[in-house]
Amino acid sequence: MKMLIGGKWVDSVSEEVYSVINPATGEKIEEVPKGTREDVKKAVDAAKDAFKTWPETPQFERGKILYKAAQITREREKELSTLLTREQGKPLRESTNEINKFANICEYVAGMATALQESYIPLKGKGRYALVIRQPIGVCGAILPWNNPAALMACKVPLGLVAGNTFVVKPASTTPLTNLKLTEILEKAGIPPGVLNVVTGPGSVVGEAVIENPDIRKISFTGETATGRHIMEVASKTIKRLTLELGGSDPMIVCDDADIDAAVDSAVSGRFSNCGQRCIAVKRLYLFESIADVFTKKFVEKAQAIKVGNGLNPETTMGPLNNANQRKRVEELVDDAVKSGATVLTGAKRPVGPEFDNGFFYLPTVLTDVKEDAKMVKEECFGPAIPIFKVHDLDEAIAKTNDTIYGLGSCIWTSDMKKAHTAIEKIEAGAVWVNMNMEYALEVPRGGVKQSGVGREMGFEGLEHYTESKAVHVDLMPKKKP
Ligand code: NDP
Repeated sequence: MKMLIGGKWVDSVSEEVYSVINPATGEKIEEVPKGTREDVKKAVDAAKDAFKTWPETPQFERGKILYKAAQITREREKELSTLLTREQGKPLRESTNEINKFANICEYVAGMATALQESYIPLKGKGRYALVIRQPIGVCGAILPWNNPAALMACKVPLGLVAGNTFVVKPASTTPLTNLKLTEILEKAGIPPGVLNVVTGPGSVVGEAVIENPDIRKISFTGETATGRHIMEVASKTIKRLTLELGGSDPMIVCDDADIDAAVDSAVSGRFSNCGQRCIAVKRLYLFESIADVFTKKFVEKAQAIKVGNGLNPETTMGPLNNANQRKRVEELVDDAVKSGATVLTGAKRPVGPEFDNGFFYLPTVLTDVKEDAKMVKEECFGPAIPIFKVHDLDEAIAKTNDTIYGLGSCIWTSDMKKAHTAIEKIEAGAVWVNMNMEYALEVPRGGVKQSGVGREMGFEGLEHYTESKAVHVDLMPKKKP
């Protein structure tokens, strides 16, 4: 596949390419251009040029393009889901959900197209008033991760486009194909040349060129906290607007009055869906002592029943990790915990067999007796492994959940509204779920506190993050001052 710059599907100026690999088989899927700094400059110039006219397109027309894109995406659901599974690794059912999410978000954002409110404020004196108008920011850079490439593109690009901005998108190196196909769909739906540009290639070259470019006025990024920190530092040189969706170490608290079976099911999908590679995955389990043993037994049984394999196989319920580095990182975190005394209840190794030999597979892993300062507790464990802790009461659970640099999501399972309310108030996180988890309504802004990020995506707040407000004061009948 090629990249889209200024309305043309092109190779890199260097003509270099790299291969996208299927993480389940190690096989090459396709080649994409290995973009350079010069490619990024061309893309930014095209986006800057397109910004001269795109904001003049009526908002309603911009919304109509997104509706059309949603429609085409649904028509091509099967092809897109299969491609997503091939390059990302997740089971086909999860890919289908993600592709539909892209379509749903396009439709939701299309409906917001005319929702940007501007205000009129009458001032003292005849013919005097103030206006607060909202304008697009300019050229935006979207830097995407590989865990949910379609859904996270959807949380950025449609909102920015409908607000009148233009884009340079940099997909993750291991999952550019779905992003390129979705770009093709947005183009077919009517996005004009230069409004949406995509440059593929390494973060150290393409990503750096995006965050350094002075003509890019805003960066939306999802990925690792360390990368987010670096982006903040580089972007500070040209005072860019930032929305950073970074790592998390989300806790799940299960109280003694919880519906245990429902909580176990939620913990299983919360930790092992997408092979644990979700920013809001459950990454630490805090169980009240009286229910800990029964919960743990059921949880381990369900973890062992997960069918690991190629995501294209309909029986598979957990695919491989997305790349070799990612598996190595998860193995290091688990090994470190085990070396310092953790007990392995299940997993902690790769599955064996010819179907696993060339992929990045790792078994669902559950640990107890993990030290609270172990790396897998203190850092983001972005894979299918989880430590379980017992707690005496809610105060202890909340103190422990907050003992982290992260603050993305969290959930509590209880039938006591008082406990639920205490958790809602006291947990330091951008989101709290009660007796449910990881379900974000499209209308609700999402994001983190502490080192999990700045800014919000989705909802009306997400749309506002793609605009600048301008203060206007008018006097229609100026009088000469005495
Ligand atoms: P990164 O943060 O490195 O990658 C995310 C995106 O940033 C990719 O497009 C990447 O490009 C790009 N990037 C990398 N370096 C730079 C740079 N210097 N300037 C600009 N862009 C850059 O995450 P990883 O892929 O390395 O994943 C590692 C860890 O990140 C995971 O273990 C997990 O902890 C966390 N993560 C969290 C996610 C979340 O949703 N919160 C999503 C993905 C990862 P390229 O792919 O070319 O390197």
